[in-house]
Amino acid sequence: MTLPWLIEPLTQLLRKKDTFPQSLLIHGTSGIGKVEFAHALTQALLCHSPTASGEACQHCQSCDWFSQGQHPDVVVLSLNDTPSDEEGSFAETDKNKDKKTTTITIDAVRQLTPFLTVGAQRGGYKVVLIEQADALNLNAANALLKALEEPPKDVIFILVASELKKLLPTIISRCQKYSLKMPSAKEASEYLTMTESQAQPLLAVYGTPLSVKRALDQDLEKYRLPFLRCLTDPKNRLSEITELALKIPLEYWLDWTHKWCHDLITHYFTNEPYFHTEMKEQLNLQDSSIVFDLLMWEKQLKQAKKWVNHPLVPKLYIESLLIPWLSINQTLHRTH
Ligand SMILES: [Zn+2]
Repeated sequence: MTLPWLIEPLTQLLRKKDTFPQSLLIHGTSGIGKVEFAHALTQALLCHSPTASGEACQHCQSCDWFSQGQHPDVVVLSLNDTPSDEEGSFAETDKNKDKKTTTITIDAVRQLTPFLTVGAQRGGYKVVLIEQADALNLNAANALLKALEEPPKDVIFILVASELKKLLPTIISRCQKYSLKMPSAKEASEYLTMTESQAQPLLAVYGTPLSVKRALDQDLEKYRLPFLRCLTDPKNRLSEITELALKIPLEYWLDWTHKWCHDLITHYFTNEPYFHTEMKEQLNLQDSSIVFDLLMWEKQLKQAKKWVNHPLVPKLYIESLLIPWLSINQTLHRTH
């Protein structure tokens, strides 16, 4: 397990290996390593010579199969390889190869049937690992529920979810829940090989150490403050802001903007930016009449987040997200 904050929870679960639940639902905030955790757990459950703490040895035949993604007693259902043939808000673009899948379909769940009915290759456990149980569509969830209701003796289901409210209550009630906690500031900064004071503003924006690392790996931090300063400078016109936004993945600048909007709203009540802590000087909210406009804009930005995985977001759409801000920003500078 490479994520240090998950080692203790992992060994804690593996200590109860003999009474391991047949269906385990691992849940917690997005970006804390739940999927990595579920993989490490699966590998350890199948390992032929686990370590004293119960973790996988990394050397036996089972561990070899597992690390090559070829273990005959494991099926992983993931958004990355599920067929995208079902309903949904992006159905009209389903043929587009660049589209990221947003749900796990019934076809993927049906593929489990032969796996569930054949005995384990090594006479031990078989594991069904569902990496995003909250992405099962309704039909898929119902098909899975049938399997959870009458599970073969040697099968363990490990479900992973960030948003429990997206799961059928009947699925949740069939599983033993296991909540993974957020890493502490110390654990997070050690993982990021930074001091706590360097890590703190990044964790405030991105939420978790893995999300911070993803942004840093893509070298996106170099854009964040320049983008926000461009956005907040009343001299800039729509075209200048849009031009910069087009250089940055939509997922990122939209999230930064959404959080900036939150900072403006909460600043009215708390005086401190919650997310972009470096932007304190640009917080100028004096006029309470702006709060309503900010709330409307916040709603629009939140809605727009549904589009972040779409391969073709038109420039006009991007501009339509920024236009409300221009008038808010002008009012802010008029009243300042
Ligand atoms: Zn092993």
